[in-house]
Amino acid sequence: MSHDLKNPLTRREIMIGGGLLAGASVFPSPLLAKMPFAKAQAPGFFRRKLGNFEVTAVLDGDLELELKLYSGDAAEIAKLSAQSYQPSPPRAHCNAFAVNTGDKLYLVDTGSGVLMGSSLGRAVENLVLAGINVDQIDAILLTHLHPDHFGGMTMEGRPVFKNAEIYVSEADAKFWLSPEVADKAPPEMKQFFTMAMDAIKPYAHRLKPLPKNGEIARGVSAIALTGHTAGHTGYLFASEKEQLLVWGDIIHNAALQFTRPEITLAFDTDRTQAAAARMRAFDMAANDKLLVAGMHLPFPGLGFVERNGTQYRYHPDFWSTKL
Ligand SMILES: [Zn+2]
Repeated sequence: MSHDLKNPLTRREIMIGGGLLAGASVFPSPLLAKMPFAKAQAPGFFRRKLGNFEVTAVLDGDLELELKLYSGDAAEIAKLSAQSYQPSPPRAHCNAFAVNTGDKLYLVDTGSGVLMGSSLGRAVENLVLAGINVDQIDAILLTHLHPDHFGGMTMEGRPVFKNAEIYVSEADAKFWLSPEVADKAPPEMKQFFTMAMDAIKPYAHRLKPLPKNGEIARGVSAIALTGHTAGHTGYLFASEKEQLLVWGDIIHNAALQFTRPEITLAFDTDRTQAAAARMRAFDMAANDKLLVAGMHLPFPGLGFVERNGTQYRYHPDFWSTKL
């Protein structure tokens, strides 16, 4: 029996798989071995259309982000987290998003590769399982230079995306790729500079600054969402009447930060700016009814934002057979 992603199993193949056409009884036979446990997760990818564009969300994995990393009243934070049935300590997904405009294939962020442990690092594998040839990716659009976003780019010093140009904000490049800034950084921070430099190195000749007016191509533009890092950037895709804002790390914990957008994370470079950027992104999304994509929203990380007084509500996207 052979099949691929483009040709789903036929009814006959499914029935053979289930033993029905093979002459087995519909009642369980004591002679048949029990179905073994799979003991491995299923692939993580999700697809939808955006006007004429095709968007594929891929899952890199999940990571622990303890409640004590968040600013604000600890009791309220614990209550918000428990009310939403988050595990304790809470875990956040890490997503990346491929957007095929028909003309170019973009990938926004690349997951963690081998940099963040074994619960992460599946983004590239999931891209392949989603039928995407990594050699056909024309450009990587980086939201910022943290390892859970660039780690998938480079494997053992070699570029994973052989034909891709790399877009990254000047502010993040100036900070994370600067040996002078790295020298002055506290010892526990130094590894993050080395990781960024090592990941970007094989792409040095293909590194592109973000255009001044933000427009990368027709229907693809960069939007400054400064705060989580000095050059934290969102990417807006527009086709027909639909728009998608890939907002990077605007949210780390959906249960906390949609209800209380002023709650910030210890890893935010500038907490005041990070909270302001979050509210700006929420307002944009709610006013213009944008589809949003978040690297740390629950997988597939796609959904809509509704304003609810001074708070916001998140509505996850709907899986559809219609593409
Ligand atoms: Zn992140």
